[in-house]
Amino acid sequence: MSFSVLHDNDQQNENNIAVSQIEEDTDHVTLRNQFNRDDGLRRRSVRSSLSSGGVKSASPADDSLFAVQDDDSFSVFAKGRDYEPIFITHQYTEQEKETLGSYESCDYLPSHSHIYKHWIKRQMISNIETDRWVMMGLIGFTVGLLGFVLHQLIERISSLKWSTTKKFLDDGQVAVAWMFCSAYSMAFAIFAAVVIVFWRPSAGGSGLPEVTGFLNGTQVKKIFSVKTLTAKFLSCVSAIGCGMPIGPEGPMIHMGAIVGAGLSQGTSVTLNLKLPFFERFRNPEDRRNFISAGVAAGVSAAFGAPVGGLLFCMEEVSSFWSNTLSWQIFFCCIIATSTSDLFNSSFESFERVGTFGGFRTSRYILFNVYDAVDINILMFIPSVILGVIGGLLGSLFTILNLKLVMSSFSVFLPMAFKCIPYTCIPSDTNSISDFCVNDTANKYDSHLREAEESFHTCEEGTQYTEGTTLFNNGTYNELALLLFSSKDEAMKNLYLRNSHRMFNYGPLFVGLIIYFFMVIWSAGTSVAAGILVPMLVIGALYGRILGLVIVDMFGIHLGESYWSWMDPGAFALIGSASFFSGVARLAPAITSIMMELTNDLKVLLPVMSAVVVAKWVGDYLTHPFFHALLELKCIPFLNQQPNVRIKKQNVKLELFTASDIMAFPVVTLNLVEHVPNLAQKLLDHTHNGFPVLKESPSGDLVFCGLITRSELLVILENKDVLKPGPLEPLEDRDLDIAPIGYDAMLRGPVEREQMTKKFLQQFVDRDSFYRDHYIDLTAYMNQSAMSVPCRFSLHRAYTLLTALGLRHLTVVDECNQVKGIITRKDLMGFHMVETLGHIMQTRPY
Ligand code: ATP
Repeated sequence: MSFSVLHDNDQQNENNIAVSQIEEDTDHVTLRNQFNRDDGLRRRSVRSSLSSGGVKSASPADDSLFAVQDDDSFSVFAKGRDYEPIFITHQYTEQEKETLGSYESCDYLPSHSHIYKHWIKRQMISNIETDRWVMMGLIGFTVGLLGFVLHQLIERISSLKWSTTKKFLDDGQVAVAWMFCSAYSMAFAIFAAVVIVFWRPSAGGSGLPEVTGFLNGTQVKKIFSVKTLTAKFLSCVSAIGCGMPIGPEGPMIHMGAIVGAGLSQGTSVTLNLKLPFFERFRNPEDRRNFISAGVAAGVSAAFGAPVGGLLFCMEEVSSFWSNTLSWQIFFCCIIATSTSDLFNSSFESFERVGTFGGFRTSRYILFNVYDAVDINILMFIPSVILGVIGGLLGSLFTILNLKLVMSSFSVFLPMAFKCIPYTCIPSDTNSISDFCVNDTANKYDSHLREAEESFHTCEEGTQYTEGTTLFNNGTYNELALLLFSSKDEAMKNLYLRNSHRMFNYGPLFVGLIIYFFMVIWSAGTSVAAGILVPMLVIGALYGRILGLVIVDMFGIHLGESYWSWMDPGAFALIGSASFFSGVARLAPAITSIMMELTNDLKVLLPVMSAVVVAKWVGDYLTHPFFHALLELKCIPFLNQQPNVRIKKQNVKLELFTASDIMAFPVVTLNLVEHVPNLAQKLLDHTHNGFPVLKESPSGDLVFCGLITRSELLVILENKDVLKPGPLEPLEDRDLDIAPIGYDAMLRGPVEREQMTKKFLQQFVDRDSFYRDHYIDLTAYMNQSAMSVPCRFSLHRAYTLLTALGLRHLTVVDECNQVKGIITRKDLMGFHMVETLGHIMQTRPY
């Protein structure tokens, strides 16, 4: 559909505009040869003309239009329909832009060179697909086992703390109990922080942004090493075991990714290990796929949710996906879940030994819901309300968390001090819990008494969890039940069905506030921490509050099945899903995880509606939490779809060309390159990719391939391949033998960064032995390096780069001569805003 912008009243009159159509889906019109006045005046006249011309756009106001002109043309842009969240979570500073630029990209596809083809031929003997399935199974098993050990250790650290505290409490030594509890927690929390801060900072946090960034194509250093795995494991076990309000799922995702990388590559620099198995997988593409499998297995093992794990990886973490990969990763998830479930069923609890092979779910993070309620159409009303609350609170959570992280990043503190504020969390949580449990005369209890529900005698048959028996015989404190027990137990209690009065408003509100801020605080710490399960607790708390409100407003119609949907436990579950969605915005993954966690399919539709509403509300307000973290950590990330906004307008990249964004002039290499020349170029430029040129029959130098810095350094290290000149480029028939093994190329240069300069200098020196040496790059360059013509659409160039995982895209003219180069850095949002903004000010397009 098109609509009239302005009628062409008078072609001769230079104050009027001739062209008058705006295609609704392009929002753009170019008006030629109509204006001679100064810029400001022209803009005003265009705007008023457009308004008075009866634009039928949803936003015909002046600000929704802007115009750009040069001597002979004039372009008007109407406001795009995509929206940007109200609260922009992060704007890059100049320093942060530099940090973004300092990251290197990684190759997704192996370089398609002669030596690579030679290597592939040798690998064909084994059945690669079978090996791939075997590797997926192996990763799933290892991650499942890791999840099991992690849970068991957390359980033991936690049990020891509470059993000892209980002993002191039973002896009436309340002060000693408090001191022991706090000191025990502090010791573990300090250890959890020290391991990260002093030994392995790359293991801090959940690791999700780093893994997501890597799978998107950014090289994040030290995230896949054995040391990182060890540090993450120790920090996570200690932090959660001592009672910090965090969960193991984020770290499990990172640890799963490390297992995927380590097992599939069979190499470890730390352990100085290189196994003679599965060598075929030592290429960037397979490595990335196995890392994705590790991520999905991590979620599966943590939640006991194989489908959720697969969807989580597909929706949030992985940027490259295929049908075959779905099947293989699904298999990996099944193995991971089965392994952790099988082993956990054998060690049911600290005291008891379970049944091997029983697949009992009691050791999962969560549990099966019993007594599921029937749903009713009226249930959708509170579900949508919960969705709105989830979106609002999720955005608030994101904003506050980022503010906290930014403040601790911006203030320079000596390392030692960084640990201190973080260690306060478990002791604070414990203090609060102790306070609630032991000091019965304090204000919490009086508050609860006022509510006539301060201490409940457990009704016969009421299902409540073991944590409650720690205190008063047969009685429990509601707030302590929420804070004192583990997150899993708190959730079990919150999700309980037919337990309307188990928690009252006071404890639920207090618990919500404490949890909300404690989780924000914990997520900003250095320790290896995840916030997925704590997020579920927060949602369950406000979900239960709403459930209670509904019960109080409309009464409980016990025995009437029509009203049985009014169950605060069911709303707690819907609340959890809504908050998870409000923070992470992963609709299918969250729904699936919630269903697999609780086995309560009856509430599927209300959960889905709450999840979708929370996502809409959240998207309207802020970016998703994990993406905001990527921005905050300055890890370059390219979305599948470009979103460039200038002056609050969406810029249509189809209107720009590859040449608009490309970098030039390009540092290129000749097919047969003079060695000192090559070394000098590597010394002078920091680029990681160089287009290779060969002489065409007409004598021009044209694009024929691309070679990376790392490959060039490996070549220079193998000095045998450097030959005294002059040298003619090899023909295809001469390429039967690989001069350097592809393994060597993958391993990269031996020279460390600081040594590279010295290493290269030996080729450049005047008296160098290699002064008259040449290198023929025919066998080493990527023969399938992509190039696009200058006029190629910028939007499509972006899609090409992101969809194929390219690192460099060469821009050529009609004669195949190199004109420019595009890398991921050129397509970063802020860079495109700067470059395209400048173009829009200076010329039409
Ligand atoms: P990577 O991010 O893969 O390590 P790189 O180091 O080769 O890539 P970037 O750091 O991404 O390159 O690029 C920085 C800038 O240099 C970008 O604008 C890019 O287009 C440009 N650039 C990259 N390679 C060349 C080259 N060979 N000649 C000239 N400019 C280049």
